[in-house]
Amino acid sequence: MNPAKPGVFLTLAAKHRAMLKIDMHSHILPESLPNFAKKFGYGDFIHLIRNQDGSANMMKGDKFFRRIGANCWDPELRIREYADFDTQVQVVCTIPVMFSYWAKAEDTKALAEFLNDDLAALSERYPQNYLGLGTLPMQDAELAIAELERCKKIGLLGVQIGSNINDKNLSEPEFFPIFEAAQELDMAIMVHPWNMMGMKQMEKYWLPWLVGMPAETSRAACSLIFGGVLERLPGLRVCFSHAGGSFLPTLGRIEHGFNCRPDLVAIHNNVNPRQYLGEFWVDCITHDPRALQYILELQGPKRVTLGSDYPFPLGDLEIGRFISEMDLPEETIEDIFCNSTLEWLNLDRSRFADMDKGSAKAEALPKKK
Ligand SMILES: [Zn+2]
Repeated sequence: MNPAKPGVFLTLAAKHRAMLKIDMHSHILPESLPNFAKKFGYGDFIHLIRNQDGSANMMKGDKFFRRIGANCWDPELRIREYADFDTQVQVVCTIPVMFSYWAKAEDTKALAEFLNDDLAALSERYPQNYLGLGTLPMQDAELAIAELERCKKIGLLGVQIGSNINDKNLSEPEFFPIFEAAQELDMAIMVHPWNMMGMKQMEKYWLPWLVGMPAETSRAACSLIFGGVLERLPGLRVCFSHAGGSFLPTLGRIEHGFNCRPDLVAIHNNVNPRQYLGEFWVDCITHDPRALQYILELQGPKRVTLGSDYPFPLGDLEIGRFISEMDLPEETIEDIFCNSTLEWLNLDRSRFADMDKGSAKAEALPKKK
């Protein structure tokens, strides 16, 4: 950590101000949602009820789910809010509760099309500020692949998927063709926790978010590794949310389990899970510089991305300010702030030339007279 001298922080913050910053984990909704429950005639699809103060209530059927503000749908307001944290680019995806994998597959596909078209329109309108990750009807591989192909055509760079699909693990063979198609189509995958295990047993204290979500992400990482998905698809570019959840902090235990009970763990893939470090990406959402330091040591800075979970309160709503305050090499900060995400999305940095004021290396060079 930096010494607590305000001048030191200001100098660093000022230096990083010039750096291209891409937040690759943020959520957005269309300004209005059709009432899908009415349209399809069943189910607790999310709909919005507007409040007088400009906010909206997300309703799951007739149950209140969450109150959201205009920064959940207003692109210009978001750009202004991001400017306060010197962040120019937002990778946006829907809110996981919208996945709706539980519905009839063709209805989930219709919902996904609606959300994905909105994301595509946004990134077309603001190509320097917004990049989109779609959503898929994962419960039906054929429809999911068709929508993945369509996502590619309309300019999305990848998709966000849940940590489980209707309680099934991502290692289930029925999902493999979707991952195979993502590799073929050069579409990135972001795995986001949702439908948390043990939800009913731990409703109090926000435990599904605090305990269930990190476990869900580790469940997804372990499933993709032990199920051999990452082994069979080395070109698949997967990013796990929330710094990989509990996967990286408990990797010692996971590896030990692999070694001491291969009869249980190594039944589909006999490669040590530690071998996959640096093969996938994780975001930086740890809220803890020491945890981030550990994750950087395991993953390397080119596999740790800047993410915020904006605009939700459990996110890092200062968008990586704690990273600026850490005593990290400039190149490492630059990797986290933009290079790792550019590689994950297979994007060229020149796309953001208008607002990219140069790399840490360039800044370090003496200015020409
Ligand atoms: Zn999120």
